[in-house]
Amino acid sequence: MHCAPKSVALFALLLSSACATGVVDGPADKTGSEGTTGPTDLDTHDPDSADSADTADSGDLVPTTPLEDVLTQEALLGHLDALQAIADTHDHTRYTFGDGYKDSVAYAVSVFENAGYTVTQQTFTLSGFDEDSPPELSRIAPDSRAYPGADLRTLTYSAGGDVTAALAAVDVVMPPGASSNSSTSGCQASDFDGFPAGSVALIQRGSCSFSEKVQYAEAAGAVAVLIYNEGQSGRQAVESWTLDPGIPVRVPVLGTSFDVGADLYAALEAGPVEVRVVVDAGIVEERVTNVLAELDRGDPDQLVVVGAHLDSVTAGPGINDNGTGTAFVLAAAEAAVAVDLHPERRIRWALWGAEEIGLIGSDHYVSELSSADIDRHYANLNFDMIGSPNGGRFIYDGDGSATGYAGPPGSDDIEALFEAWFDSQGLTHLPTAFDGRSDYGPFIWAGIPAGGLFSGAEVSKSSTEADLFGGRAGEPLDACYHQDCDSRSNIDETLFYEMSLAAAHVTRRVAEGTAAMGPPPPVRVPHPRIDPHTVPLGHGHGHGCHPVDR
Ligand SMILES: [Zn+2]
Repeated sequence: MHCAPKSVALFALLLSSACATGVVDGPADKTGSEGTTGPTDLDTHDPDSADSADTADSGDLVPTTPLEDVLTQEALLGHLDALQAIADTHDHTRYTFGDGYKDSVAYAVSVFENAGYTVTQQTFTLSGFDEDSPPELSRIAPDSRAYPGADLRTLTYSAGGDVTAALAAVDVVMPPGASSNSSTSGCQASDFDGFPAGSVALIQRGSCSFSEKVQYAEAAGAVAVLIYNEGQSGRQAVESWTLDPGIPVRVPVLGTSFDVGADLYAALEAGPVEVRVVVDAGIVEERVTNVLAELDRGDPDQLVVVGAHLDSVTAGPGINDNGTGTAFVLAAAEAAVAVDLHPERRIRWALWGAEEIGLIGSDHYVSELSSADIDRHYANLNFDMIGSPNGGRFIYDGDGSATGYAGPPGSDDIEALFEAWFDSQGLTHLPTAFDGRSDYGPFIWAGIPAGGLFSGAEVSKSSTEADLFGGRAGEPLDACYHQDCDSRSNIDETLFYEMSLAAAHVTRRVAEGTAAMGPPPPVRVPHPRIDPHTVPLGHGHGHGCHPVDR
């Protein structure tokens, strides 16, 4: 799978306005139960009040049953089952460019619409590099030799192609010079004087960028380019090299070890050489879809975006990551209708695409907001992995007390709401790094306060965490993180339910808004980004990049 962000350029926004057309209600009211101040007014809840919950749109002024009182474990697990079934019919994955994702979108849309929501699919096109199978390089003449795959690597942003042609060396330094960048192979147009158009260029690493070498080669009529490592100590093996994504390439560009280059050069010294180059890659345009759902209830100038990413990695079905957050959003949205929730603030339920390849969906959403739109966003709540099989109850460190990195003002209030809820339930909790490694990142960078929950990924459970949460110290919080085994059986259902109830409670409190959080500031101030690696707590959620890939 791809570790580097795949995003190159974003095109063609097709976002229609998210105005409600299906549901029209009276003005927002404040008949909810949050008449008291302070974060722990939970004793006002009637546990049987779900029985009196009204159906949607039956009228205003219905006392609101707390959202968390009607969120059932059955509903949550039912959505997980549905997502697993989707993955089962699509090669065990719901990755963002596959049919498993399309079906996940269709499922989410149907759930929202059946509950009465107005749904907007925010779609846009993402242009990126994609390689479908490993490259091949073989010598065809004067004799046949296939080079081992371990010595070959396609340059990122190479074009694809299957080319058989004569080979021509370009100003190489053989044997290589004593120090790196002794070679200027392919760095000047004059290096290609006499280069036979229609040939494959054999170029040595050194002195200038790979893109410069390829541009000159293309101009000289090369039909493919081989770039071999320069040959000094430390510049022997093939490496991962990247072309400039801003300069389109028309021919396959393959990197090789020094040994491959030396073998081909030796053959050229003896006479004409013909090679075959196969690169199964290129720039593809893919559609990314975010799903947004809301009712015409609550102040649309105080939006509370409650989000989770809907995509999985290519390696697996993504039921903990992030079927759990998705299932929470769907079940909570249904529950909000079931209790006829009329919040002071507008809730916008959001399921993001392309999180696993770099927060693409949520980043696009925020990037499309004007500064006035950003000021209309009251808060973002994010739920990404909340049912980890050896997990814990981790709260994003909105006040920075544990990590030194706080979110925008208001993030501290959201963290406090989660803490108070878990305390009220007699459930332990710990802070986790609030470093922007999930879909709340684009929101906090825009100055919008955020918060959320996380139950753990590939990091091993500490003895402190095992003491607080149970489970197995020294083993990963989610041993199936970003793997095929992140399936329906990879869920701690009790933990998932506890986390979902906390999420529902805080969603309600932030949206009801009476005492939980103050009025928004008139203007959101952009928030500095940090390097996630500088934040000391190791519970951040990696994105499309398993740690072994780094
Ligand atoms: Zn995730």
